[in-house]
Amino acid sequence: MIFPSVLWAPQRGTGAVRRTPAAIGQTPWRAVWPLACWLALAGNVPLWQRVAALDGSVGQTAVLLAGLGLLVWGATAALLSLMVWPFAYRPLASVLVLVTAFNTHFMLQYGAVIDPTMLANVVQTDAREVRDLLSPALPFTVLLVAGVPLWWIWRRPLRSRHWLAQTGRNAGGVALGLLVTVLVALLTYQNLASLMRNHKDLRYMINPLNSVYAATRLAADQLPRQVKALQPVGEDAHLGASYAQQARPPLLVLVVGETARAQNWGLSGYARPTTPALARWQAQGDLVNFSQVQSCGTNTQVSVPCLFSPLTRAQGGDQTAEHENLLDVLQRAGLAVLWLDNQSGCKGVCDRVPHASTRELNLPGVCADGECFDEALLQGLDERIAALDPQRRARGVVLVMHQMGSHGPAYSRREPANHKPFQPECTSNTLSECAADQLVNAYDNSIAYTDHFLDQTLQWLQTQADQGRYDTGLLYVSDHGESLGENNLYLHGLPYAFAPDQQTRVPMVTWLSAGLQQRSGVSADCLRQQAARPLSHDHVFHSVLGLMDVQTAVHQPALDLYRPC
Ligand SMILES: [Zn+2]
Repeated sequence: MIFPSVLWAPQRGTGAVRRTPAAIGQTPWRAVWPLACWLALAGNVPLWQRVAALDGSVGQTAVLLAGLGLLVWGATAALLSLMVWPFAYRPLASVLVLVTAFNTHFMLQYGAVIDPTMLANVVQTDAREVRDLLSPALPFTVLLVAGVPLWWIWRRPLRSRHWLAQTGRNAGGVALGLLVTVLVALLTYQNLASLMRNHKDLRYMINPLNSVYAATRLAADQLPRQVKALQPVGEDAHLGASYAQQARPPLLVLVVGETARAQNWGLSGYARPTTPALARWQAQGDLVNFSQVQSCGTNTQVSVPCLFSPLTRAQGGDQTAEHENLLDVLQRAGLAVLWLDNQSGCKGVCDRVPHASTRELNLPGVCADGECFDEALLQGLDERIAALDPQRRARGVVLVMHQMGSHGPAYSRREPANHKPFQPECTSNTLSECAADQLVNAYDNSIAYTDHFLDQTLQWLQTQADQGRYDTGLLYVSDHGESLGENNLYLHGLPYAFAPDQQTRVPMVTWLSAGLQQRSGVSADCLRQQAARPLSHDHVFHSVLGLMDVQTAVHQPALDLYRPC
């Protein structure tokens, strides 16, 4: 066996020493430690800003900054030392550098942090969402953070060695990195421990370790589940007595809202009239607004599956689904189910039921650039329902509409120009550059458009009821809220434990036609009296089963919001 080391053995006795390219390559030491230092310092500007802004004396802050800086340096060097293999090092290190640069941008712009669910979001995103997030500052930040280290990584190849020697050196590098980390941690234990206890989100701000941690967690979490079949739910599900000899089948529209927060919801006490149409429906008596509703997650990826999960949040409804969901149970009971999507998909919820997306429509004036206003969900609805299995349809229909709602940061693109009551509005997606009131205007316009969309939906449902075709009802609930610059936070997706109320309190309304109230025995007047009680996404699964009179052992009356009425 010829060892590569032969290639760079100094050639003696030839006068001047000839240096082969391998010999002038970077040593692992020179490749790793300066790069780790740069990543720790320049790649963590948002973290240093946060720490510097915390309460404390100058001395305390300096100790924290120095301690945390050395800690991140050592840990990053240990991580990079694992990768110092010829051929592998440069691409892997470049990915880490770029990830750090992109993270820095989104942390600075939106106050985002990187945890496993945030990464899951990134993995599942689509071109429309990416386009909305692109801003002129992005290439600038990426160049600033990634330019120098990329040059450092690519200017020279790694010096090649015998693999055994390489393994030894890499292990030494990892050990030294960890030693630095442990020593610093021990020396500054008091300060760092209390910092991490009081500000748990800081750990998700450490680039690029946060992303490596998130990717590892995500892979460990997702891979085993991908191969496992979902556990069936409600195998005993069947239709209740109200279906015997029914005059009309029930039709429930379940609207899954997007990024609407309770704080800006007119019906829940917001000072601005963002929900004028719903207020009219409420005044007529059959619409009820629930003002204290807690979301399951702070992002679509978690909240949408959780809304349909038989598990409560506490039972693990916010984790990757291992069970079938509400739609499976409704379909098993014999009802017709249809999912209509005006967003980036149903996150696996609608995989086993009929589903369609507005993207296929391409309606002039309503859709452009592969993106539609929410009104597109209502186009051709009668035909869509007529196309469902006739036997199931004759029993009853549950129609889910997944809105684009108030999806940011491009709030101003959520509604047509003639549906913008609040002016002037922010039209940039660099939210921190918008005047605060213009940002709120843009967001409120998107809420007002949701009000308009729900109004149109209710009119359609009222018509179905008036024509004697169905006993109709509606349940609307948003998937999570949004930060609009409060505490310098934008968008959503903070880890639930330290997410502000703006991200976890959501609007929810229900409307029941006279026919559905009669058939289900649920009175809107009774619901109204309980409209301020605390509810959450946990209630949706059981409430829909209850309202649709689907009988199964998994139905928990205690979590059925219609039950007490
Ligand atoms: Zn969402």
